[in-house]
Amino acid sequence: MESFVYSPLPHKIIFGRGSTRQLPQCLRALGFRRPLVLSTPYQIEQARQITEILKPHVEDASIFSEATMHTPLGITEKALRFCQDKESDVLISIGGGSTTGLGKAISFRKDLYHIAIPTTYAGSEVTPILGETVDRIKTTQTNISILPKTVIYDVDLTLTLPLPMSLTSIINALAHGVEALYAPNVNPIVSLMAIEGVRALARGAVQLLDDPDSISARSTCQYGAWLCGTCLGSVGMSLHHKLCHTLGGSFNLPHAETHTIVLPHALAYNAPKVPKAMEALASALPTSNGDALHGLNSLLNRLGVPRSLGSIGFREDDIDKAADISVSKSYPNPRDIDRDLIREVIRRAWAGEDAR
Ligand code: NAD
Repeated sequence: MESFVYSPLPHKIIFGRGSTRQLPQCLRALGFRRPLVLSTPYQIEQARQITEILKPHVEDASIFSEATMHTPLGITEKALRFCQDKESDVLISIGGGSTTGLGKAISFRKDLYHIAIPTTYAGSEVTPILGETVDRIKTTQTNISILPKTVIYDVDLTLTLPLPMSLTSIINALAHGVEALYAPNVNPIVSLMAIEGVRALARGAVQLLDDPDSISARSTCQYGAWLCGTCLGSVGMSLHHKLCHTLGGSFNLPHAETHTIVLPHALAYNAPKVPKAMEALASALPTSNGDALHGLNSLLNRLGVPRSLGSIGFREDDIDKAADISVSKSYPNPRDIDRDLIREVIRRAWAGEDAR
């Protein structure tokens, strides 16, 4: 057995259909009386459902519904003023990674308890990582006090996520599990979570295709998203996440779609250096026939998700710039980062060619 370090994340996970009904009990146990519920403008109805559950049990429950992709500082400052005016004593974020990000940004600055209720599969709710944007430049920081203290996974809140967004969000989650398998600081628990998470996500995604309202399929996907998100929050990520950070941050490409398109290409680049991870991944992907890359490609084709960066607005003229930015800072990766080969990875992803 190789040496390893394992530090479990200090948070509470409440998983199960209808579990948002436990919120009043949760707040009472913690002594909070003035919750602030966060959402995007598109999910204000779900935020209202939460305040309706809470109102009979608290002094005041308010809503701030302006959460925005990439957590721009201007919105965080506005939310901070609102939170101050309302004298809120606890934050409840309901939404995808964007809303969780706003919850983290406020909680980190004001040292407020944060309960995250995720409604996509992105996984931000179980990471101590915060990405924020100032003047269109996105920077990330990691600090254990950024981690939401309680996470409630209630499958009912994911039913409204449209199928195409659900499928790319599932692959976004799967990418955390894939890169965890070859992380420099991986440990046996994270490997187990990654394999189980990938298996659950792949199975749930295929079931969702047949029935997008299936509680069982969506619950399986949430379970996989929790496991793979925990991998993201526990170990360092490599080439795939760096490429997606560059493409999302510098070229404003949509987060989950970018992850979906880049993943097979980043995996193909690293494959020769990570045979054990490829073997483990192949065992978790259906129809892989022992070949992880084949298994991933056939899963993506079956799901009918976007396969080319060109189709989501990335321009051929920007390939060189993206390659330069991607190699400008060093980071751990199983295979040495070669600028020209990375350019080719991005070009293939732009063109939507088969990953090889
Ligand atoms: P998102 O949060 O931006 O959501 C996309 C849209 O879908 C929003 O309009 C949202 O309101 C809507 N939506 C979400 N759930 C819905 C539901 N159940 N029903 C109907 N509409 C719903 O998308 P995302 O992919 O979850 O998050 C992306 C953001 O999160 C990016 O900024 C990314 O950088 C960040 N992120 C951060 C981490 C981290 O660890 N810090 C991890 C993953 C993602």
